[in-house]
Amino acid sequence: MKITVVGAGIWGLSTAYFLRKMGVQVHLIDMWGAGNVRSGSGGVSRIIRLVYGADELYIDLTSRAFALWMEIFGKEVNDYYQETGLLWFFSQEDDSYALHSKKRIEELGYELEELTFSDAIAAYPQVSFEGIRKVYFEDKAGILYASKCCELILQKFQAIGGHYTQGFASVERENNFSLLVNGKKTESDQYIFACGPWTRSLFADVLKENTYVSKQDIYHFAIPPTKMRQFDPSHMPVWLDYNAESPLYYGMPMHLAKGFKIAYDDRSELFSPDQDDRLPTLDRLQLARDFVGKRFPILAGAPISYTEVCQYDNSLDGHFIIDTHPQFEEVILMTGSSGHGFKMGPAIGELMAKHILKGNALPQKFKLNRFQNKIDVQSQFLPSIK
Ligand SMILES: Cc1cc2nc3c(=O)[nH]c(=O)nc-3n(C[C@H](O)[C@H](O)[C@H](O)COP(=O)(O)OP(=O)(O)OC[C@H]3O[C@@H](n4cnc5c(N)ncnc54)[C@H](O)[C@@H]3O)c2cc1C
Repeated sequence: MKITVVGAGIWGLSTAYFLRKMGVQVHLIDMWGAGNVRSGSGGVSRIIRLVYGADELYIDLTSRAFALWMEIFGKEVNDYYQETGLLWFFSQEDDSYALHSKKRIEELGYELEELTFSDAIAAYPQVSFEGIRKVYFEDKAGILYASKCCELILQKFQAIGGHYTQGFASVERENNFSLLVNGKKTESDQYIFACGPWTRSLFADVLKENTYVSKQDIYHFAIPPTKMRQFDPSHMPVWLDYNAESPLYYGMPMHLAKGFKIAYDDRSELFSPDQDDRLPTLDRLQLARDFVGKRFPILAGAPISYTEVCQYDNSLDGHFIIDTHPQFEEVILMTGSSGHGFKMGPAIGELMAKHILKGNALPQKFKLNRFQNKIDVQSQFLPSIK
């Protein structure tokens, strides 16, 4: 069996890798390279955490991904992953997003505990807890070094005989489906498109109405040299401010010598991954500065040390889209990762490989037919926080 996977972001890479491990002849193609700066999987880092409200599908996929990530990293784990735990701030009484995950997380052998304010203030003096009603600490969470992880999986894929080429894929479908790589027809038994936000351009007929792409800026603030200790991973976990009043901000302690990272989870600024400049939007930067000064007073007025601009490949309801093309059964679409698909990459790749080779069913939640009904725009977080 020969399968072509288009897109060497974390989903395409992982799918290609697991298919190859199961003995398939796999050809992986990417127009810019594994973990490139324009891809959702490119960049310094991504969070991995288990809390997902009551959504056990994502908790279980992340738990499986944790095991697979560790197998992939092996002894070199510290080059690719930093475990820090995750500190959850809730500005409202409603802490159900954390609380609803607690039972499943504990069944999996991890912990999620609510901290008293006196414990939180003593443990994290660099944080201002003003306006926060509840604090939780999740022990199994941390930072994946995103582009480095992608490069590693590509190496591993090639080491077991996977075939990779850099090339631009286009499609033709009059009556039959054809894949062209750099304008040349390429034949396979199965075609998998994991092209992030570009999937909707290749398959606009199926995806244009139920997906959208949003601009996401990432800022790293320069930590004063005398305060580095308070913002290193042994003193500051990954954190997420689950706040309905302002954008939902999240961030990470100092890693890979870039600074104190902060980003937001608002999806309101539409973005073209091909046409738009990757420069931060200045009024958003000001909002982030204000937030940092409020939540981490030591960093008030700190300059920016590094920025990145990325995009979310959103589905309307915030759930992944992983399904066979409605017209061509040899074509599978993997898209709509909606700003939360990196952590689960290896589990998604394994899921896809087992679906193709063993006939395992794909989760109903990921199917395209859900869009036949009217769907409200939502995110991975509660519908109230978009
Ligand atoms: C700012 C930001 C923060 C995020 N934070 C987190 C987080 O903390 N935790 C988490 O789990 N997730 C996070 N995500 C989401 C996560 O990064 C994405 O869900 C995931 O990386 C998407 O991977 P992908 O493989 O689907 O797509 P991509 O990584 O976008 O890969 C698509 C690939 O397809 C290639 N391609 C496209 N079109 C073609 C073509 N025609 N021919 C050849 N190649 C093509 C591209 O070059 C690209 O390499 C974040 C995303 C952003 C932007």
